[in-house]
Amino acid sequence: MCGIVGYIGHQAAGPILLEGLQRLEYRGYDSSGIAVVDRDGALAVLKRQGKLRDLQAAITEMPAGAAGIGHTRWATHGEPSDRNAHPHASSAGDVIVVQNGIVENYRELKAELQETLDTEGRTWQSDTDTEVIPELISRELAMGRSFEAALAYAIGRLNGANAIAAVHRTDPGRIYAARTGSAGGIVIGYGEGEMFIASDLPALLPHTTTVYHLDDGDIATITADDLRVRRSDHASIRPEPRQVDLDPVAIARGPYRHFMLKEIHEQPRALSDTIRGRARLDPASALPDDLSISDETLRSIDRVLVIGMGTSLHAAMIGRWWMEQIAGIPADFDNASEFRFRAPLLGPSTLVVAVTQSGETIDTLGAMKHVRDRWGAPQVVITNVEGSEATRQADASIIMRCGPEVGVASTKTFVGSLAALYLLACRIGRVQGRLSDDDLSTRLEQLLTAPSLVDRGIQRGERCAEIAQRFGSAANFLVLGRGIEHPLAMEAALKCKEISYVHAEGYAAGEMKHGPIALLDQDFPVIALAPRGPLFDKMTSAIQQVSARRAPVIAIGDEGDEELIDLVDHFIGIPPAPPLLTPFSLTPVIQLLAYHIALARGLDIDQPRNLAKTVTVE
Ligand code: GLU
Repeated sequence: MCGIVGYIGHQAAGPILLEGLQRLEYRGYDSSGIAVVDRDGALAVLKRQGKLRDLQAAITEMPAGAAGIGHTRWATHGEPSDRNAHPHASSAGDVIVVQNGIVENYRELKAELQETLDTEGRTWQSDTDTEVIPELISRELAMGRSFEAALAYAIGRLNGANAIAAVHRTDPGRIYAARTGSAGGIVIGYGEGEMFIASDLPALLPHTTTVYHLDDGDIATITADDLRVRRSDHASIRPEPRQVDLDPVAIARGPYRHFMLKEIHEQPRALSDTIRGRARLDPASALPDDLSISDETLRSIDRVLVIGMGTSLHAAMIGRWWMEQIAGIPADFDNASEFRFRAPLLGPSTLVVAVTQSGETIDTLGAMKHVRDRWGAPQVVITNVEGSEATRQADASIIMRCGPEVGVASTKTFVGSLAALYLLACRIGRVQGRLSDDDLSTRLEQLLTAPSLVDRGIQRGERCAEIAQRFGSAANFLVLGRGIEHPLAMEAALKCKEISYVHAEGYAAGEMKHGPIALLDQDFPVIALAPRGPLFDKMTSAIQQVSARRAPVIAIGDEGDEELIDLVDHFIGIPPAPPLLTPFSLTPVIQLLAYHIALARGLDIDQPRNLAKTVTVE
């Protein structure tokens, strides 16, 4: 990734930070850097674009000092370069920060801080969103606040999901870490007279198995032998560390009860990782260097066909919307197992996009072969597994970077494939001249809010559990959606079938009156996906028709939507999203509903009966 490490203790920090970063290399990155502070206030910030070996080669003398932080970056704001690599210092040079994530309101914060910079005759040192963080902290320190209070203030000002680590130049006896939302975890490791920070547990395991995971909103103040955490409610605690079980399954599952729950929580990070380095705002570009299909080919296509199976088919259906609305190109989707036996008219000007989480799905591979043998149309695969069979068959691959998915029911690879489809639509629209620079950056800016939309959806877990308690014994559900929410209705129903073993149907709301309405009565709950958007009024008409049959309605809609709340029996609020981005705000809620229904029914969530993770049989 995009990783964070930190160290404070009795050893030289530099080599420990570099070695920690090495252990995070597997997640991919475009630059790296470390900052080390010494007892006499000496500060060394060493950073380089490229691989860790480029950073190592640039270090002629290892900095002295037993406290520091390190980072591997995947650029979102500002191109990969030495100057944009982390760590970033405040303009006064007193606060040094590394960050994973996106400061969504960085423009607003930059404008606010500009005045201070102008008065002091200082300028911004990078093009990143990150730099506002040390600047905010530094301004608060100058007003006499403690570092911890300044950091808490700064974190409170940031929109978006972020994980950060920081050092204060004049206080080498402490390092700091904080987390807002689920930009990935921060784990603190306890050693003998030394403490560690890492964004991923494996980076700590060579040093210690005694750890504490920061929660959303936590601010950690770390000395060589102590950890204090200020919670989001301002309570200051000395947390109880936990002992990591070295059983590889327990390590992998972390503090979660099931892999599925863990993977639902990992979605903001899976999304950021899939987007990072591919969606760049300035200058705006999508998929800049890793789509091995030429712009010439993309320019020559006049149609896109997206294929997949199961959850990937639902992603393909959403992909069609984005191809039409973002790229402005005719698009279709198909179920790979059906498509492979059809004889549609394709030609070299149709781009086939195959979505397969494992890259080994037999039906999708069969459909890809059918395309190649029969029409020779260009093919792109979207998959989570590099080197899988689908990547060998396709002309080009977009690898989602979700990390291994253990739960049989796909969760994080669903949002990963959505991000890849959205980026591809942006790329096609740009190459074909239908998206201007400004339109492209608006689209990408919206995509960069997707991790925090998912994150805020995840916060609705308790509400989903309440609804699951209430309806956990229902024998059937009808899930309704319209427009881009229709595939999500189908995905919600699929999740209910897969892990809760409840019969559920996902329908386009307009289709309900053509049949399914005959099923409805007071024992047949209906889940209505109804965020505000162009088809909202049509959705509320469908809801009224459901209520008239006395079927209980559970609506998932924009937080605080009083009109909808008044109309339905039960309501789950999600963050309002731009119309084409509702798949990101709705997905975690539909997953959590199915998860909690399965939990209420006492089922084996990670290994549901009759299902396989990779479907290699026809
Ligand atoms: N948004 C930050 C940047 O562009 C951090 C990216 C990351 O998480 O690596 O530098």
